[in-house]
Amino acid sequence: MADRTLTGPTQTGPTQTGPTLTLPAGRPGWTARADVVVVGSGVAGLTTALHARAAGLTVLLVTKAEVNEGSTRWAQGGIAAALAEDDSPEEHLQDTLVAGVGLCDVEAVRILVTEGPAAVRELISRGAHFDTDASGAISLTREGGHHRSRIAHAGGDATGAEVSRALVQAVEQDPGIEVIENAVVLDLLRDAQGAAQGVTLHVVGQGQRDGIGAALAPAVVIATGGFGQVFGQTTNPFVATGDGIALALRAGASIADVEFVQFHPTVMWLGPHASGQQPLVSEAVRGEGAVLLDGSGARFMVDEHELADLAPRDIVAKAIMRRMRAEGSAHVWLDGRGLGADTWVARFPTILESCRARGIDPVTDLIPVSPAQHYVSGGILTDTWGRADIPGLFACGEAACTGVHGANRLASNSLLEGLVFAARIGRVLATDGVGPVRDPIDAGVAVPLVGIAVRREIQQVMDAEAGVLRSGPSLARAHAALADLAARTPGTPRTEDWETTNIHQLAEVLVHHAQLREETRGSHWREDFPDRDDARWRVRLVTTRSADGLLHTQRRDVTGE
Ligand SMILES: Cc1cc2nc3c(=O)[nH]c(=O)nc-3n(C[C@H](O)[C@H](O)[C@H](O)COP(=O)(O)OP(=O)(O)OC[C@H]3O[C@@H](n4cnc5c(N)ncnc54)[C@H](O)[C@@H]3O)c2cc1C
Repeated sequence: MADRTLTGPTQTGPTQTGPTLTLPAGRPGWTARADVVVVGSGVAGLTTALHARAAGLTVLLVTKAEVNEGSTRWAQGGIAAALAEDDSPEEHLQDTLVAGVGLCDVEAVRILVTEGPAAVRELISRGAHFDTDASGAISLTREGGHHRSRIAHAGGDATGAEVSRALVQAVEQDPGIEVIENAVVLDLLRDAQGAAQGVTLHVVGQGQRDGIGAALAPAVVIATGGFGQVFGQTTNPFVATGDGIALALRAGASIADVEFVQFHPTVMWLGPHASGQQPLVSEAVRGEGAVLLDGSGARFMVDEHELADLAPRDIVAKAIMRRMRAEGSAHVWLDGRGLGADTWVARFPTILESCRARGIDPVTDLIPVSPAQHYVSGGILTDTWGRADIPGLFACGEAACTGVHGANRLASNSLLEGLVFAARIGRVLATDGVGPVRDPIDAGVAVPLVGIAVRREIQQVMDAEAGVLRSGPSLARAHAALADLAARTPGTPRTEDWETTNIHQLAEVLVHHAQLREETRGSHWREDFPDRDDARWRVRLVTTRSADGLLHTQRRDVTGE
């Protein structure tokens, strides 16, 4: 277990040029080259690839499983953007800042909301079909924390699938983008000046590109999504093991805001022993009128917030947890019976099918729901052009921390963030070009691997001690358990163990941040510090890890408000 230091406040972060940490793996047996390597094929990676091509650059897009695997295709509710006549970017900004509870980077949010509508229109021009009303205008719905109807959706509740389909098709039609599937990226390659020069990766079953290789490029974009698999119950798919964030941490890049993990309030409860990816019941179901009920059938959100069932997610998740605790129950109920069969079929066909497959008919039955991990607001710290603090390293989408979410993401802002900031990486590559091509140097210190055998235990520890409810004692237990689990079960160089090591390294940083942040803010809820403490904690926690394994955490001032 790494020791930890805390310094700050300060505005700048270190860029290392010395040795960095790596996962143990064999030497690369093959190489591929491009101007830009994009890691990940969700909304962020695919959009970056298309924009880098528009900048005239060659692109190698590598992705861990099949090209459409990732959180993007699971997104239900939609994409938030001020598209309606009675809406404005300023109002979208205000709602985003409220959800972020004082930790948003206002400049980044302003970019998100002002460039958002054009980004959605561009997506439509690439072939994505959004649901429209009788007049042909895009149908917009509301979700938690939004004071306007501004969520564009597709296929009712299959927005992510449509976004993924359209972007994958556009990428496949571009001969300047080479895609390698089943490619697990392991570590960043750096030159003697410390700049990114590509990644090492392990490819399964690709003929000549088989086994450990090196994808070389002077610009590397991490778009590997979030780390839901750090927890036992999550809405995220199996690929969400946080590989790109862990890679950046090992390479010396700054990681921020990882204590702010959003737990979606309404994930279908499948029983006490369920684990892995759990079915989501989108917030949009509440947007269309469904309400939460406790065990006695009472609507409890009306007393909690002016927006009642459509309060920001952290408020709803905490209210549910409190009610579950008070009742000693494992879940509450979502009542969507008032929507009627037609609305269920037209607006939420995916959720309807998912419920019915589990013996629940939401047209006539209550749906058992409880909070589960859903989204990580933090990640690789970037500026508003997607640049991390290693030259040539970029990040976007859920893997990045642009500062737009602060302490809590506003519903449906994440697909939008992927679109907007991926496009900005393309723009900065077009204006600045990529850096000089230099040979990578072999300066890695291999970390001990944590074996797959303890993955489930890590997840159980994180659910129990560092989940929706946290406290000093619970986090201390998590810290000790993580150290014990790592020491107990060494791994071997293979995908499952590389992933488990990444999960473990991110769990360590998350627990470290959560221990430091002695307050309750947004999605970070400390039972022993129940109040928001602006005097001490209106700062961003930013962590790097040095080659000796030490975590170095700084308190950085939040800009703009
Ligand atoms: C069930 C669900 C519903 C959601 N609903 C909404 C919604 O309605 N609106 C909204 O805005 N957001 C929603 N979200 C969140 C949103 O979907 C994600 O935040 C967003 O899609 C992330 O996009 P991304 O491109 O950053 O990552 P992802 O789409 O997760 O893609 C990550 C990519 O990286 C690849 N990858 C990972 N590790 C490696 C590695 N080591 N090597 C190579 N490739 C790697 C993966 O295979 C994948 O291709 C939802 C999420 C879930 C899970």
